[in-house]
Amino acid sequence: MKSKNTATQKALYTWYQKNKRDLPWRKTHDPYAIWISEIMLQQTRVDTVIDYWHRFLSTFPTVFDLANASEEGVLQIWQGLGYYRRAKLLHKASKQIVKTYNGKLPSTKQELIKLSGFGEYTSGAVASIAFGQKVPCVDGNVIRVLSRVYATHKDVTPFANDLANHSDPSSINQAIMEIGALICVPKNPKCLICPLRNTCEAYQTQNISLFPAPRKKAKVKNIYACALVLQNPKTKKYLLCKRPDQGRWAGMWEFPYFEGKKTKNQTKEFLQSEFPKVQKLQKTGTISHQLTHQNIVVDVFVGYQATSKARTPVEQWVVDLYSYPTSVLTKKILGASLPHL
Ligand code: SF4
Repeated sequence: MKSKNTATQKALYTWYQKNKRDLPWRKTHDPYAIWISEIMLQQTRVDTVIDYWHRFLSTFPTVFDLANASEEGVLQIWQGLGYYRRAKLLHKASKQIVKTYNGKLPSTKQELIKLSGFGEYTSGAVASIAFGQKVPCVDGNVIRVLSRVYATHKDVTPFANDLANHSDPSSINQAIMEIGALICVPKNPKCLICPLRNTCEAYQTQNISLFPAPRKKAKVKNIYACALVLQNPKTKKYLLCKRPDQGRWAGMWEFPYFEGKKTKNQTKEFLQSEFPKVQKLQKTGTISHQLTHQNIVVDVFVGYQATSKARTPVEQWVVDLYSYPTSVLTKKILGASLPHL
């Protein structure tokens, strides 16, 4: 096993030096900037992350800037990236870093993992990439590559651990992830150009389709909802409501939004009872929005109201919708209503 690991390390290291993608966070040694990239890259494509990463760092260049920002300010820069809990935990961790570590990210996995939002993966990635600690980082790509290389259905962490025991663990870990993203893809891996084909057991035994172990597909649940884009025709202000601090889109702003399956007439009656002063209420369309395990189907209504007085602290009548952090769904709802306003 030792000689296989040494050969795999050698292949990974040589390949990575020649073939790594030119990504902006690979040109910095700033642990803070590397940490931001690692959080953004979770569940999000590299192409999407590049712009967000630049914008985030120009708005919050240091961990102190991030810690001093309001949560709403952080969510605003994050809007569109999805999985907003990541942004909230990032913000929370920045405060912990300022308070406990005087603004310097701790350099070991053991310390990093104590911070909000730092699980096994993130603490391993930041410790190895930013600080050169010989620890593994195991994400979905790494599981796929190593389960094939070692032809195993078991936890690949011990293998990742052995491979990270190298003079440049940053390159080794990033090489495995990069091969998973570009070559050892889920379907039709490009084995003929893979630097690991000589040590890959699944390839050598022609059993690639057996690895990794198939995952049970989570069922996608349909959620039915309605939303009302309510405008004051005189002031051109819209009613926005802030979502609760927990759960989906926590702390983001949205048009009045209600979940539950109803017919068109039932929805109209319901909205009229919720907003007794609404006029010219009309349905403008139905949109759907896909989340990982949910498909949200929203009937979009528009209406007008002559008075614009917030009824609760979580309501606001606003002109500039874009200065509030909103989800992609809220933007779609606006898109479906604008031609009718
Ligand atoms: S040889 Fe094929 S299966 Fe093995 S790691 Fe490379 S791409 Fe994946």
